[in-house]
Amino acid sequence: LPINLPSFCQSLLEELQFSDEQGHDICFTYQGQQDLLVEFDEQWLRYVLSNLLCNALKYSPQGSTVKLRLSIDNQQVIFQVIDRGIGIHPEDRSNLFEPFYRGKNVSSIAGSGLGLAIVKNYVELLKGQISFTSEVGVGTTFTVILPLNN
Ligand code: ATP
Ligand code: MG
Repeated sequence: LPINLPSFCQSLLEELQFSDEQGHDICFTYQGQQDLLVEFDEQWLRYVLSNLLCNALKYSPQGSTVKLRLSIDNQQVIFQVIDRGIGIHPEDRSNLFEPFYRGKNVSSIAGSGLGLAIVKNYVELLKGQISFTSEVGVGTTFTVILPLNN
């Protein structure tokens, strides 16, 4: 069954905003046609986006803004999850997608280090790519690129 991507993202964000207890401002930006039907596996896509968004919420201060940006370029769907949080140390870069790996600056925040490893697997099953840019104390942006036709 095809997914209508903009409304899928909207309702995912509404769920997260509803359960967030730290007063984050969770927003969605998308400049495109209202309906965008894709054939992605819904469970995989939900896992990927909700994990990246939950990380963004978990590793950023109360009341800060977390943004999901959706765009289409060249037969590719681009998702960006942007936070103004604690950031990722350069030394953690190369291991971040390894199972059970956790950053050096998160010891006080609970987690198992499995989310991103699973996310990366699902992104690969969707024939896509995942990457991130980050600056400690400033914030992090994760980018997921998925081909529209695969
Ligand atoms: P869980 O398995 O419960 O998700 P986790 O959040 O620690 O635990 P991952 O989601 O795999 O595990 O993330 C791995 C590590 O990457 C985190 O421990 C953290 O150090 C770092 N990280 C991930 N997302 C962010 C982010 N948005 N900002 C800062 N650090 C992040
Ligand atoms: Mg996580």
